[in-house]
Amino acid sequence: ATAPRGLVAPDALFGAGRKNSRGFDLSDPAVLAAIETARAGDIPDAEPLTAGPASGPRRAVINPATGAEVAQVTEADAATVAAALDAAQVWAAPAAERAAVLRRAADLYEENFGPIFAVLAREAGKALPDAVAELREAVDFLRYYAAQGEQETRAPRGPIVAISPWNFPLAIFSGQIAAALMAGNAVLAKPAEQTPLIAALAVRLLHLAGVPRAVLQLLPGDGATVGAALTRDPRVSGVVFTGSTETAQIIARAMAAHMAPGTPLIAETGGLNAMIVDSTALPEQAVRDIVASAFRSAGQRCSALRCLYVQDDIAPRILEMLKGAMDELTLGDPWQVETDIGPVIDAEAQAQIKAWVAAQESALLHRITAPETGHFIGPVLLNVPGIDALEREIFGPVLHFATYAAEDLPQVIEAINARGFGLTFGFHSRIDGRVEEVAEQVRAGNIYINRNQIGAVVGSQPFGGEGLSGTGPKAGGPLYLNRFFAPDAPEAPQ
Ligand code: GLU
Repeated sequence: ATAPRGLVAPDALFGAGRKNSRGFDLSDPAVLAAIETARAGDIPDAEPLTAGPASGPRRAVINPATGAEVAQVTEADAATVAAALDAAQVWAAPAAERAAVLRRAADLYEENFGPIFAVLAREAGKALPDAVAELREAVDFLRYYAAQGEQETRAPRGPIVAISPWNFPLAIFSGQIAAALMAGNAVLAKPAEQTPLIAALAVRLLHLAGVPRAVLQLLPGDGATVGAALTRDPRVSGVVFTGSTETAQIIARAMAAHMAPGTPLIAETGGLNAMIVDSTALPEQAVRDIVASAFRSAGQRCSALRCLYVQDDIAPRILEMLKGAMDELTLGDPWQVETDIGPVIDAEAQAQIKAWVAAQESALLHRITAPETGHFIGPVLLNVPGIDALEREIFGPVLHFATYAAEDLPQVIEAINARGFGLTFGFHSRIDGRVEEVAEQVRAGNIYINRNQIGAVVGSQPFGGEGLSGTGPKAGGPLYLNRFFAPDAPEAPQ
């Protein structure tokens, strides 16, 4: 469909003829049986999956729920990165064929849900409901960009470096790659060093679906070796990155020094996300959405709620209910269907979160006990005067609780905006006019009203922030794919 200039056609937004994945029903005996089989199965290993010669150090992958070793992987070294860039080829197949291959890959992902959940649980500590959501999002990205790009005639940019995080080691990994591939680029993918196994599984499925090996290459390893080598190579024509704001700045500096001016960096970075609950909100609904936003996925989402502001006259009631809801959360083995919250990613993350909470001991409002073994953090509620008390993004199940008086709402919004991040924001209120006003004033990429503020859905809730939270365009939105094609005219410097 065509839209008037400057507007987006509905098909472009939702992906013509495309449906989001239905996901997997964890109460279906057939699904549970497949999960049981996968539990007993072997975990596939990981190594550089490149078209050139490969060599590199070995690294142990640790199960964050137990601290035990899951597998030994072979990483790439700088020579492997250079050889992969030598061997890299853009995808010459017509757009319709590329789309068909990505759709086949989506089908293969879904067919292999058992092994995928197994790797997500053991390597990333993903609780099963989070693993289900993650697989859905991954296949949605594949089918969405396939639908959007299948009639494209534009040329690719060239080799694209995709650097992805451990918190969505399948969904974000696959989303970056799917967009870059759909535009016909060569892709060099560096997964987070904590999660190479799911990345290798995904790349094997993409190769099996028909993506040529010289078009999509996997380079496991850390930022200092593989990331540095990839972001300093003048042959690279674009970088897509999701991770911390600090790492994005390091990448931007490396690119500026080594790559052609105007080489795009698409970065999705951190957040200091707030929610405001005013006294007209429905308390039960607000509390349910607060718990999901702050604690689901152990708070390890860049969209997660970090600072909650509750209007003072309903604060005591919300606080009581929130503590009660926290008491009901089940922490533990990500493989158990009843587990709500799994571990945080590793010992380092656990130590950092613990240190922050320990330093705020006098502000402690509530805390859930965590299992002794493994890298768990029990959900924590801390009392703060406001968002200024958060020195940085605490990437775990730690919620900061503040109250405000009705007449101070403008100052609250000012304080949130002043932090310079702009990823997600939540507002609970029954007053339409106030909702409109607040949504207008808060600077955030994704604003959620009377619901939780996580789990953006591909094709209907494009996800991405502004300011310190990222460069745009939004993932899973109509403008994302455009950035992966060669521009008609030279681009302005970023
Ligand atoms: N897209 C995810 C969400 O909406 C967050 C992605 C991230 O944490 O990087 O919850």
